[in-house]
Amino acid sequence: METIVKEYSNGEVTIVWKPGLCQHAAFCGGELPAVFKPRERPWINPQGATTEQIVKQVKRCPSGALSYRLEGK
Ligand code: SF4
Repeated sequence: METIVKEYSNGEVTIVWKPGLCQHAAFCGGELPAVFKPRERPWINPQGATTEQIVKQVKRCPSGALSYRLEGK
């Protein structure tokens, strides 16, 4: 099965999302709603918080669907 990977970058951090692993519990959206908006498309807005806040939230994803990559560092 092909693994779908979506990326959302603010130029400093790239949020990597694997929909196949996401449990769609909107856990991330509940905690950082300015970035994770399950009702919108695209549903991740990487401009909605600081890179530090994004990294912290990505690490809290329970399923491993979210990961991140720091750019230019
Ligand atoms: S926290 Fe992770 S598993 Fe839960 S909705 Fe967000 S991306 Fe999906």
